[in-house]
Amino acid sequence: MSNKFEMNDFADSGLWLIGLAIDVRSRAYCSYSGFAVGAALLASDGEAFVGCNVENASFGLTICAERNAATSAVAAGKTEWLELALALSGGGAPCGACLQFLAEFAPRLPVIIVDVDDDNAVQFTSVDSLLPGRFTLP
Ligand SMILES: [Zn+2]
Repeated sequence: MSNKFEMNDFADSGLWLIGLAIDVRSRAYCSYSGFAVGAALLASDGEAFVGCNVENASFGLTICAERNAATSAVAAGKTEWLELALALSGGGAPCGACLQFLAEFAPRLPVIIVDVDDDNAVQFTSVDSLLPGRFTLP
């Protein structure tokens, strides 16, 4: 699933991305944890890719919203990213696996995290702030 944003209105992209993240969060498959997450990833050409968490009875197979969005972008040939928006309840941050996954393509990716239960709880951070010591091959 993708959406296209007009880059001449880039100042509003964060708000637009947040809306996409909140929307896709409603489609999370999280019957085990009850913890729904939505992610929207903005590619450099203005196209956005969304993802929600998808859990499985075999818990280790669960995929996070962030990696779901990232793999959709890569599958579309979009590996240059400008921004990631996350929507979840209670705030938080991407897990370490997702940060490492995102850092592969965009180590300094800005991340907006929205607490869907609190309109005032918006966190502006980045992949490198959350994962300063990412793994790289020597
Ligand atoms: Zn994750």
